Amino acid sequence: MKTALTIAGFDPSSGAGITADLKVFAAHEIFGTAAITSLTVQSTLGVFSTHPVEPDVLRHTLQCLRDDLPPAGVKIGMTGTAPNIHIISQYLAKLNPKDEGVASVPVVLDPVLVATSGHPLLDADGVRALRSILLPLVDWITPNVDELAALTGIEVKVPADLARAARALQAEAGPRPRRQPLGVLAKGGHLGKPDDLVLTPDGEEHWLAGERIQTSATHGAGCALSSAFLCRLVLGDQSAAAARKAKDYVAEAMRRVPGIGHGKGPMKLLWPLSLCTQG
Ligand code: PLP
Repeated sequence: MKTALTIAGFDPSSGAGITADLKVFAAHEIFGTAAITSLTVQSTLGVFSTHPVEPDVLRHTLQCLRDDLPPAGVKIGMTGTAPNIHIISQYLAKLNPKDEGVASVPVVLDPVLVATSGHPLLDADGVRALRSILLPLVDWITPNVDELAALTGIEVKVPADLARAARALQAEAGPRPRRQPLGVLAKGGHLGKPDDLVLTPDGEEHWLAGERIQTSATHGAGCALSSAFLCRLVLGDQSAAAARKAKDYVAEAMRRVPGIGHGKGPMKLLWPLSLCTQG
């Protein structure tokens, strides 16, 4: 059984963050491990506060997991603070050393900046560290429209803007010694038509047509898409196919929402497990 690691925040309502990622891994029959960057106090009604984990605790967690359960892929979500981004970067540099002949594992970064409810999940120092230290060490980034705009300064209103901003982000991250250019899976869920764009490391564009699903239960949709994309890469799919399958998986989870909570409810991320009756 393959193992994947999520490095992200803890959402006690389990719609987003670590626990959502672990459900996505389980749904793809991948054994999930987790390193928490920050506790959050939140429910389906929104995020009330965030409490970063001590950098030393994060460092030790990552070290323990690397020694015992080395991952076949890594997903990074909410990083929380600049010091924790430094710890994650040190971990990644050791996990995927630049030496020739050392196989590297895919690393997908979901640049979680602000919760849908409006609560910031990364401060300004953190955003700077994410761009300068983390971007050069990841293979893929999966921003939504707002994150793309925040990271590139390009206003994203229509699909052509999404492509322009994705190319700007790819250009900002590369060229990188002994590493392919950054791949971008740009999530168009907030555009009129929810099409996503895969910009491959080779610069090819693949558009993934999406269907608008009428539901308010979209909490954690971004986390789930990134994690499902990582799972598909770990399972051996090429990037465009991996993104298509991840998008279809999330759409189905959204169609089968369990209908719990008083706000933006969770999705049914475990739907592929037939014995399961709840999300
Ligand atoms: N909380 C945590 C811990 C997260 O990782 C994320 C998103 O990645 C969120 C909250 C935000 O989720 P949403 O914007 O879907 O509410």
